[in-house]
Amino acid sequence: MNQPLKQHLIDPEICIRCYTCEMTCPVGAIVHDDNNVVVNAETCNFCMDCIPVCPTGSIDEWRVVSQPYSLDEQYEWDELPEQQDLGSDEASTGLEALDDTMAALLAEAHQGAGGKSKPPTTAGKASINMYNLGKPAIAKVQGNYKLTNAEGHDVRHIILDLGALPFPVMEGQSVGIIAPGTDADGNAHLPRLYSISSPRDGERPNYNNISLTVKREDKGICSNYVCDLENGDEVKITGPFGATFLLPDDPNARLLMVCTGTGSAPMRAFSMRRQRVGATGGATLFFGARSQDTLPYFGPLSKMPETVLDQHLVYSREGAKEYVQDRMIQESDLVADLLSDPKTHIYICGLRGMEEGVEKAFSSIAETIGTQWLTLRDAMREEGRYHVETY
Ligand code: NAP
Repeated sequence: MNQPLKQHLIDPEICIRCYTCEMTCPVGAIVHDDNNVVVNAETCNFCMDCIPVCPTGSIDEWRVVSQPYSLDEQYEWDELPEQQDLGSDEASTGLEALDDTMAALLAEAHQGAGGKSKPPTTAGKASINMYNLGKPAIAKVQGNYKLTNAEGHDVRHIILDLGALPFPVMEGQSVGIIAPGTDADGNAHLPRLYSISSPRDGERPNYNNISLTVKREDKGICSNYVCDLENGDEVKITGPFGATFLLPDDPNARLLMVCTGTGSAPMRAFSMRRQRVGATGGATLFFGARSQDTLPYFGPLSKMPETVLDQHLVYSREGAKEYVQDRMIQESDLVADLLSDPKTHIYICGLRGMEEGVEKAFSSIAETIGTQWLTLRDAMREEGRYHVETY
């Protein structure tokens, strides 16, 4: 038997095909086909640069193998294979030493990262990867509405109609949009990923349509394409993606949602779903924007009853500068009560930079109730009650 080796893999079920790992890998070990994003065992040097940039933790998969899985094998997977039983003492002894080095590297790479998430135990099963680069779905634009009034801050609510095409989605999932044309090297553009901001039964109930929340980025190829779409235009979409950032089906579950800017997209989907099904557990939202006129969904939010959504809207460039984590600290009692409740599910979405501040806020609030945040967070993540999607 060959000397066993550790192989770095990507979980195709959880990966949302944002290609950030591929763009980050300094040695070109991460590649994709129409279906999956995979790691080339011959090229990967375990530098770990890809670990902290992954928004879902799907990148953090390792198998001990006697023969590495080839790219072709990985391209075919819908789910990861189980760890093989290598069955020899020699194999396990060699691996312990390897594991220490890997553990040290991983611990460093994981600093500040969301880590690998699990779906809520009561979440429905999400369909994933039904449409890919080679076989995208064609959606028709049904609406393109400006959500913000600030000059130079154009956030759009885009409604896409899937017609008769099967496109089952769950709140919290994402889709890829393929901008037409090619890049400077003549290659087709990679899809850009957007969270779905509508509930599973449609932007309009019982219609086969979805909505997205898209901010126009300076020189952004896909965001400018999407923000300029007109009704009736046809759009190529991939997905749906994501099998963990999902809602619990339990109507009594309590939601604690923390988001910045367009990271509000899945929170809108969650809130609408909970309102439509008459969930009773309630939801608390900490939502940060630069100012009122850059806050997507500002008007509609004010119409949501407090029993459905307890809102804490904070602004960093209007009045005294305030971030979501500052307001969480101000509302310590409320957050502490949520942290103490085993029915609470936490969702964090938006800028990568917010994670550190939000984690610090959770740490100091947990201390006030005699709880160690990291222990609680890891337990909640294991129970499918702690979810982060930041990039
Ligand atoms: P933005 O307007 O640039 O920022 C929103 C707010 O977050 C501002 O008030 C900003 O304050 C504040 N902020 C900046 N740094 C922070 C920190 N360290 N801690 C807490 N708050 C901080 O946001 P955006 O342009 O909409 O970007 C949202 C991000 O979410 C993007 O990176 C996007 O990729 C990501 N995202 C989007 C989706 C989606 O579906 N669209 C899904 C997941 C993630 P100042 O700028 O005034 O400092």
